[in-house]
Amino acid sequence: MSKRRLSRQQRLRIAENQQNELNSTDKDSPINEFSYNGRIISHYGQQLDVEVLAGENSTATIRCHQRANLPPLVTGDLVLWEQDTEEAGVIVAKAKRKNVFARPDSQAKLKPLAANIDYVLVVFAVIPEPFLNFIDRYLVAINSLGLEPLLVLNKVDLLSTNPSEGVANMLSIYRGLGYPVIEVSALQGTGIEALQANLRNKIAVLVGQSGVGKSSLVNRLGHDHLADVGDLSKSKYKGTHTTTTSRLFHLQNFDLIDSPGIREFSLGHMDADSVLAGFLELKGRAAECKFRDCSHKSEPGCAIQAAIENGNITVDRFESFQSILNSME
Ligand code: GDP
Ligand code: ZN
Repeated sequence: MSKRRLSRQQRLRIAENQQNELNSTDKDSPINEFSYNGRIISHYGQQLDVEVLAGENSTATIRCHQRANLPPLVTGDLVLWEQDTEEAGVIVAKAKRKNVFARPDSQAKLKPLAANIDYVLVVFAVIPEPFLNFIDRYLVAINSLGLEPLLVLNKVDLLSTNPSEGVANMLSIYRGLGYPVIEVSALQGTGIEALQANLRNKIAVLVGQSGVGKSSLVNRLGHDHLADVGDLSKSKYKGTHTTTTSRLFHLQNFDLIDSPGIREFSLGHMDADSVLAGFLELKGRAAECKFRDCSHKSEPGCAIQAAIENGNITVDRFESFQSILNSME
């Protein structure tokens, strides 16, 4: 078995361990993914709103509380609920999670924000000027959670007046690495159909720096018309929505779980191996360096420096990698 292969397996194991840790309570999960009858679409305090997924009320939502023996539930969790009072239900079990979207808290402990996510949309824009390193930080974090990124370049309408070599270079680097990249204009609607086609029947969350157009994109994708699930009206949430950790919206042909907390997603502390694992083109080669503790800077027999010299690794990505490592020290 090649070293490269091992390293990929290690990466998967790390992601799996991290997910297992987040899902530790799942071991005793009494229901599997086929026997749930609801999905958490919003939660605040002790209250949870559950979308009814089975039976005659299948588009309705029901306000629920959860049995005390259950772990904290997050938006996107699939659950088994029962009618409790005429108005409210009680959640009695949680289905096994496919994955968890989590963010480090102030103690660097991962705090789950949403579950069962298909894509993390990493939004960047022609303006404010994007930096490879911002995007790489998201990619490292997404990789460590075992989630799938979808890169979205917004404001392409500005390219005609602001042609940018930096942007073109970034797109070519990410496409070269095999990441899906979609170019859109939330303002003019360009590329929105392609984005929707990629997200069909999926559940996504959206992250990105302030000002890149996340709100505009959500509006363009249909939030204005279809934001409200079932019979929940926006007015009902007035005054309480600020305490909502996250909320699921049915958009045109996919679901979006959104909240300020998710949008402000950050990397937090990570060890050097996890950072390396997030750089697809570096992680396999690092195993081929002559010295096991190679810093990839000036050691003889460094496979990464060799790959930079022959053009298989870009200096930009290598510098971005080093910059993340330095910021973690
Ligand atoms: P957020 O902070 O990421 O939610 O960004 P906003 O959605 O608030 O957008 C920030 C600014 O960018 C606003 O002035 C928007 O009108 C503008 N904007 C958003 N999308 C586009 C776009 O596709 N093209 C252009 N030219 N401006 C946009
Ligand atoms: Zn090396």
